[in-house]
Amino acid sequence: MSKSEVNSSSLSRVERLIREQVLGLKAYQIADATGMIKLDAMENPYTWPDELRQQWLKRLEQAELNRYPDPKCTQLSETIRQVFGVSKDKQVLLGNGSDELIQIIINAVAKPGATVMSFSPGFVMYEFIAIYNRLQYAAVPLSADFDIPLAETLAQIARYQPAVIFIAYPNNPTGNLFDQKAIRTIIESAPGLVVIDEAYTSFAKTSFLEQLDNYENMLVLRTLSKMGLAGLRLGYLIGAAAWLDQLDKVRLPYNINILTQISAQFALENKSVLDSQTDLICQQRERLYQDMKKIDSLSIYQSQANFLMFRTAPGQAAKIHQRLLEQQVLIKNLSPAGGSLADCLRVTVGTEDENRLFLAALAKSL
Ligand SMILES: *Cc1c(COP(=O)(O)O)cnc(C)c1O
Repeated sequence: MSKSEVNSSSLSRVERLIREQVLGLKAYQIADATGMIKLDAMENPYTWPDELRQQWLKRLEQAELNRYPDPKCTQLSETIRQVFGVSKDKQVLLGNGSDELIQIIINAVAKPGATVMSFSPGFVMYEFIAIYNRLQYAAVPLSADFDIPLAETLAQIARYQPAVIFIAYPNNPTGNLFDQKAIRTIIESAPGLVVIDEAYTSFAKTSFLEQLDNYENMLVLRTLSKMGLAGLRLGYLIGAAAWLDQLDKVRLPYNINILTQISAQFALENKSVLDSQTDLICQQRERLYQDMKKIDSLSIYQSQANFLMFRTAPGQAAKIHQRLLEQQVLIKNLSPAGGSLADCLRVTVGTEDENRLFLAALAKSL
């Protein structure tokens, strides 16, 4: 067989063996950020003071890399409970990013024909993970102001009887908080689980955590990523033991590696540093919003997260995105998704310097 014959026969074998849903998926695209002012992924732009960094490295010296990590993350779970005020009668489940917890939840409810529901535009991983687990995915389109259309949502719940509904609060990529009363009505009407995804809770300063006692079918999902620890990959899910005991069975053992356990423990012991960075980001968000509002050809949406979504003049988003790239500024072009995201771009709030450079580059790109 010639080399090209080998290649084509292994290609057809790939197509024969790999599930159709997987062949049909488009790989999650991550832009190359080398040398860029990186404002595309909702990362915290600040690093730690030198002294704190040194203390952290000291702590890492204790890591026994030859041993498996604590499979239950006993100490870290306890720290998370204390730091975020999780009551004793609730359980905490840790994931390799909240993405993994979304996967665990969907895996656990993935009966044939089950439906995962969320909103559009919304966080793409709910759909991604639902599809590759062979579940149905139903997205309810948000209203023109990106809030929940309650009557329509209740009708879709009645129709699909979703096993799980994901509600991002605040929403990504739009940045707004949905109406709380609408969310409560959804939880009360849902036949299955409702997961409140609070990835941006530290910037929004509001939460459904306190509501856990009122709703036995609700879980609260959070992550350390957006508050400054994206590199560690640590998410946590909070809820009643009745749910989390089942979900824990789907989790792979040792899913949180030892470096993450030690580093997250250390970071949360020094959470005040992260908190002041969060405050700074919130201040900068308001400033950036006001500055962008002055630009006639753009409409900026209010955000309770660490990013701002904005709409360009019709057909201009790709050009503006490209011109920013040429000036070494990387933001997210949402426009290819179409629908209500047509002409939309999303910028993560950076440091004061980064935001200034972004604004200058943006002015030259319009
Ligand atoms: C970023 C994000 C996540 C994923 O966070 P990781 O913990 O980094 O996996 C989950 N949900 C929403 C809404 C997000 O924006």
